[in-house]
Amino acid sequence: MADCLFCQIAAGDVPSDQVSQTARVLAFRDINPQAPTHVLVIPKDHYPDLAALASADPGLLAEVTSVADRVAGTEGLAGRGYRVVFNTGAESGQTVFHAHAHVLGGRPMSWPPG
Ligand code: 5GP
Ligand code: ZN
Repeated sequence: MADCLFCQIAAGDVPSDQVSQTARVLAFRDINPQAPTHVLVIPKDHYPDLAALASADPGLLAEVTSVADRVAGTEGLAGRGYRVVFNTGAESGQTVFHAHAHVLGGRPMSWPPG
C-alpha cells in the first residue's frame, strides 16, 4: 500500500535500523523506544492488524513470532525475559495500521499494562 509507512519501510523507501529479516518478515528498531530493546517485527506484505494477518495467513503470523523470538535471543534477552505485543485496533493504542509485533526487553516491566 503506497500510503502505508511500514510498507514503505519494507520496500526500503523509508530508512530503518534493520535487525533481522527473512523473505517475508522484517525486524527493525522502533524510532521511539520504550525499553532498551524495542524492535518491531512486520510481515513485508500489508495486513492492517493482527486479526487480518491471523485469519489470512497463520503461517506468516507464526513466522513473525518466530522472528520476534530470534530477535530477543540476539538482543540477549532469552535468559532475562521479554514481552511481545501486538496492539490491535484503535482502543489498544495501535497507530500504524500495518500488522506488527513489538519486542520489548532489557528492563523490568510491570503487569498489567496501562
Ligand atoms: P503501534 O502504536 O501502532 O502499536 O506502534 C507503532 C510504532 O511504530 C510506535 O512504537 C512508533 O514509535 C513506531 N514508529 C512510528 N513511525 C516510525 C518510523 O518511521 N520508523 C520506525 N522505526 N518506527 C516508527
Ligand atoms: Zn503496510
